[in-house]
Amino acid sequence: MELLKRKILEEGEVIGEDILKVDSFLNHQLDIEFLNEVGREFWYRFKDEKVTRILTIESSGIAIAAITAQYFKVPVVFAKKNISRNLDTEIYTSEVFSFTKGTTYQIKVAKRYITSQDRILIIDDFLANGRAVLGLKDIIEQAGAYLVGVGIVIEKGFQQGGKTLREAGVNLHSLAIVDSMRDGKIVFR
Ligand code: 5GP
Repeated sequence: MELLKRKILEEGEVIGEDILKVDSFLNHQLDIEFLNEVGREFWYRFKDEKVTRILTIESSGIAIAAITAQYFKVPVVFAKKNISRNLDTEIYTSEVFSFTKGTTYQIKVAKRYITSQDRILIIDDFLANGRAVLGLKDIIEQAGAYLVGVGIVIEKGFQQGGKTLREAGVNLHSLAIVDSMRDGKIVFR
């Protein structure tokens, strides 16, 4: 997606060798006009898949998933990371290792928000080693639902997530794939 690549080049900051900071439009401030274009692109790519629900993970996936859902006219479910007293007791859980935080955490989805009839599209902001998506995929499998595909805004192609998911036969669409960020220089696939 050319508009996304331009935004990354103009506004992205490379932190160290492997973190891309896009706080001005995706991870802190949200550029809604731009995110509408992202949502439209995901719609274009997955519109024939009869999606019934979009699944993401809190917190940075929520905005993109919500905007995308307006094109599909389906609900968004986001996996929760924190224990809270008002979460249902009937829940699916999975373990995720966080690339940015370096720790493992549990994700949770109430059983009533995914059924075996669902055709689910996973949406997230970044794909690094694929742990977040694999955790969501695990929950979809526990529910007996069908994963129609995964839509990612920015895939870091020099990490393993994309390869792992494609080899597992997942219908993965990344709107931009960054192949390297050496010396602060962003190179797209
Ligand atoms: P993965 O589970 O694929 O290893 O990592 C994906 C998750 O980590 C995403 O949900 C995203 O929030 C976060 N993440 C991974 N790499 C980056 C990055 O370079 N920049 C930002 N902003 N988030 C990242």
